[in-house]
Amino acid sequence: MKALVLEEFGGPLWLRDLPVPEPGPDEVLVQVRACAPDQFDLTIRDGKFPSARVPIVLGHEIAGIVERIGPGVTGVAPGDRVTSTLYLTCGRCRQCLAGRETLCEDFRGYLGIHTPGGYAEYTVIPSLNLVKLPESISFPQGSILANALGTPFHALTRRARLQPGEHVIVTGAAGGVGLHAVQLARMMGASVLAVDLGPDKLRAARERGADLAIDPSQEDFARAALEWTGGRGVDVVLELVGPATMETSLKAMGKGARMVIVGSHTGSDWTLHTQAVIANEWEILGSRNVTKRELADVVELVAAGRVEPVVTGVHPLEEAEDIHQRLRRQEIIGRVALEP
Ligand SMILES: [Zn+2]
Repeated sequence: MKALVLEEFGGPLWLRDLPVPEPGPDEVLVQVRACAPDQFDLTIRDGKFPSARVPIVLGHEIAGIVERIGPGVTGVAPGDRVTSTLYLTCGRCRQCLAGRETLCEDFRGYLGIHTPGGYAEYTVIPSLNLVKLPESISFPQGSILANALGTPFHALTRRARLQPGEHVIVTGAAGGVGLHAVQLARMMGASVLAVDLGPDKLRAARERGADLAIDPSQEDFARAALEWTGGRGVDVVLELVGPATMETSLKAMGKGARMVIVGSHTGSDWTLHTQAVIANEWEILGSRNVTKRELADVVELVAAGRVEPVVTGVHPLEEAEDIHQRLRRQEIIGRVALEP
C-alpha cells in the first residue's frame, strides 16, 4: 500500500510502498478515505513529542471503510463507514468504565504516533475507538469530527457547562477547533466573542456565527467584552491559545465565570492571582479531547445539520508536505483533509 513515512525527525515525508497491516485481536483494518492533518503532526515531525519514534506513518484523524476485522471484534463489520477517537485506551480501568476514557489510567498513546496512522491507504485501529458514520457525512467531514468538533463539544458541554443566554469568548476562534467552537456555542444558545489575528480570520469567525470578532493586536478584547456584557464580564472563556491571551481573558471574566483551557501553544507557564479566583469564584478547568460517547453525539448533530464541519480543502495524500507548510504558516482557516 501507499504510505507517507517520516523517517527522521525534522526530515521530509517519503512516499513508500508498505505491506497492508494485519488486524490483531480487537483491532480493525480500515481503508483510509480521509485523514486530517493538524498542528500536532508538526510537533511530532519536529521531534518535540518525547515518546514518538521514527520511522512513523503520521495521521491521527481518520475516516474510512472497515476492510477486515480481527478476532473478537463486535459492533462493526466490513463495509461500515467509520470515524475514530484518537487515544489508545484500555477500556477496563476506572476512568474508562466511567466513560472518561481520555483520562485512562493505562493510557497507551495516540493513533498515528504510537501506532502507524492514516497517511496511508490502510491503517489498523482498535475497535474500541470506532464510531459509525452515516452516508450523509462525507469522509473528509468525518475525519475532522473527533478533534475539530469533538474537542470543543467536550469543552463546552461537559467542562464549561455552557447555558443558553451566556456570553462566551473563544480565543483562536478561526482555527480548526475554534470555528467549530463558535458554531457549537451558538447552537447551545450562547453569544460569542471571537478572538483571532487578521481580517480574514475575523471574517471567518463572523461567518460561523460570532457576534463580535476582535483582533487582539489591534484592540483590547477584555475592554470590548466588558462593554458587550454591560460591564458584567463574560460567563465562559474557551482558551485555545494559552498564555498569550489568558491574562486578557481573565480581565474579561465576570463573577462565577469558567475558563476552560483546551490549547496552550503559546507557552506553558502562566501567573494566576489566587485572590481574584477566590473573590470571583472563578473556575479554571482543563479539557482533553472527546470521549467515544460524545463523538457519537457529534456525529448525530452533524447528521441532523445542526453544526457543519468546516473542511476548506481536500487534497491528495502526496500534497501533505505543502499542507504542512501552510499549517506552519498558520494560513489554514478551518480544516483540510488528505485523501490517500
Ligand atoms: Zn483505561
